Amino acid sequence: MDNCLFCRIVKREIPSKIVYEDDLVLCFQDIAPKAPVHLLLIPKVHVASLNDLKDEHKDVMAHLTMAIPQVAEKMGIKESGYRVVVNCGKDSGQEVAHLHYHILGGRSFGNTFG
Ligand code: 5GP
Ligand code: ZN
Repeated sequence: MDNCLFCRIVKREIPSKIVYEDDLVLCFQDIAPKAPVHLLLIPKVHVASLNDLKDEHKDVMAHLTMAIPQVAEKMGIKESGYRVVVNCGKDSGQEVAHLHYHILGGRSFGNTFG
């Protein structure tokens, strides 16, 4: 996807602060962090949202999910805990149409949502 922001980050056409990368996924710091640690973990393949997942994405989505604790450990929030958020569609406020996990940590969220 030539005009997708996160695809462009994968291709290094737009700079980002990368914290983890392998063949299938990329993790980088959110440009407007909502917590001391705020990461975006994405599949390198373009998938617009959860609603666009197909059977062919099963392996990459398993890999993406398994990367969460690895990234959390690297960033020092594995033991203290963290929140993972995925927005999907208009009502969620999803701004970037490339599936991404927000990984937030470094402070307590209590048990609040919203
Ligand atoms: P969404 O609202 O789609 O779930 O989240 C999109 C996230 O991408 C937001 O938290 C926003 O701060 C972040 N973001 C938007 N543009 C950029 C960018 O150019 N670079 C980085 N690193 N993050 C971005
Ligand atoms: Zn994309």
